[in-house]
Amino acid sequence: MNRTVDWAKLRADFPILDQKVHGKPLIYFDNAATSQKPRAVIQALVNYYERDNANVHRGIHELSMRATTAFEAARARTAKFINARSADEIIWTHGTTEGINLVASTWGAKHLQPGDVILLTEAEHHSNIVPWQLLAQRTGAKVAYIPVTGDEGTLDLSKLDSLLTSQVKLLSLVHISNSMGVVNPVAELCARARKLGIVTLVDGAQSAGHMPVDVQAIGCDFFAFSGHKICGPTGIGALYGRQEIMEKLPPYQGGGEMILTVGYDKTEFKSAPHRFEAGTPDISGPIGLHTAMDYLDAIGRDNIWKHDQELANYAYDQLAALQNIRLFGPKTGRAGLVSFLLKDVHAHDVVTLADQGGVALRGGHHCTQPLMHKLGVESTARASFYFYNTKAEVDRFVEVVKEIQKFFGG
Ligand code: PLP
Repeated sequence: MNRTVDWAKLRADFPILDQKVHGKPLIYFDNAATSQKPRAVIQALVNYYERDNANVHRGIHELSMRATTAFEAARARTAKFINARSADEIIWTHGTTEGINLVASTWGAKHLQPGDVILLTEAEHHSNIVPWQLLAQRTGAKVAYIPVTGDEGTLDLSKLDSLLTSQVKLLSLVHISNSMGVVNPVAELCARARKLGIVTLVDGAQSAGHMPVDVQAIGCDFFAFSGHKICGPTGIGALYGRQEIMEKLPPYQGGGEMILTVGYDKTEFKSAPHRFEAGTPDISGPIGLHTAMDYLDAIGRDNIWKHDQELANYAYDQLAALQNIRLFGPKTGRAGLVSFLLKDVHAHDVVTLADQGGVALRGGHHCTQPLMHKLGVESTARASFYFYNTKAEVDRFVEVVKEIQKFFGG
């Protein structure tokens, strides 16, 4: 999409950004943790609760039909958002974490044997490590990791051939690393895995709302993402599963909504995706998410991606010019975030002092503790950007970092 975006005008869609924190204008750079919500999404939730609220699927009264129509329209919109072939390939979840756990519980329990290998990367979020460790304990499978190269955090693909053994049954990897800002070559890796009959899952938590995503072009079997990171409400996410795989999977949880018939001894289940959605679902969540997806695509995720990268490069170059700073992630091609450590200053101190200056950062292991250990650090400070952030905010953030260095005598 080749058109100019009025970024300042978009910013005005986010009421929360227009406030002071500790007497300073808020600079919200914690977007990798959760994004802010535009007025349109907040209003979609208000409209739903004020006009259409009812339970879905079971009712034949007007409100229930309206709620069901909106709920299923959101599923079709999600399929379009990531270019799935059909709405039947979209399962509602609470978020990325639940999507990955669902695959571990259903696909994993059905397909894994003792000695099988689940291949991850060393840069995974805990939500793409812990479910597999739990599954490995249950099934006797093992977890192995594609290594990353030092502080740059990119994958060391020279080890891939030796890691792609005939025991590997699943490759699950992050699209954009939340602590390093690395963009992994997921299409290339999924193609290599698929040639060997390995099932693939892509963790799209940091990519779905920041760049155009096409699950058919990526060629993955599963793709998980969270609504709250892409301007949608908290508590809603989606799992894409290729139809051929999903049709054969056992249910995730049992209960109402996911059944065709129930007897005292036996139950027949609905087909995918409804087989995986037991009980009353989050209804307002998909409706808010629908508006968020429309909102993002009206801007153009290609435009958002360029803007993200521009801010990240701008921030990286300014930080790199400072003394006594260690920067993480790739020098080029980074996604919209910068992770760093100031010499002899704990990341939590950086974040606490930045907060006093109105800048919301995140400090800690970013749920990538094994990667932090590998890099020999406990934590980093992270600034993560979205389309409503500006270069002027980055300038102020760099000033704040310099002030923190001065405060600590650096
Ligand atoms: N994967 C990555 C790369 C993430 O950054 C996150 C959240 O920060 C998650 C998974 C988990 O997402 P959620 O907590 O929304 O389930």
